[in-house]
Amino acid sequence: MADASQLCLACGLCCSGALFDMVRVTHAEVPRLTKLGLPVMFKDEHGAAMLHPCPALDDTACTIYEHRPARCFWYRCYLLEALYSDEVSIDEALKVVALAKELEGPQRQQFLEYHFLGRSVRRDRKRTL
Ligand code: SF4
Ligand code: SF4
Repeated sequence: MADASQLCLACGLCCSGALFDMVRVTHAEVPRLTKLGLPVMFKDEHGAAMLHPCPALDDTACTIYEHRPARCFWYRCYLLEALYSDEVSIDEALKVVALAKELEGPQRQQFLEYHFLGRSVRRDRKRTL
């Protein structure tokens, strides 16, 4: 969907640290990512992670798009889901992204949670993509 690509390329908030502190990667994905020169952090029984802002992010674009982790492949924020289901138009969604980048402080956090993580997000939720 062209509109989805347009929205995400204007946004990048799920990779920049605004929404998440890290993205989980599987053990199987680690060799591929390290071969690309990316710093993969701690390993535990659940796998590993890349801390955000993601080292693969260049402005708003993923530089390893074809090789990105499965979590990134499958992730759709609330705003993107709303675009897919025609609840918002591409112009409305782009305005939300622009406003999200302008706001600061607690107001920004509330805005991000409401528009990107969904209304029911728990405040104690771990910030992991
Ligand atoms: S936060 Fe949503 S709209 Fe922004 S890049 Fe991520 S999936 Fe796309
Ligand atoms: S690998 Fe790409 S899509 Fe995944 S968090 Fe990093 S920049 Fe975003």
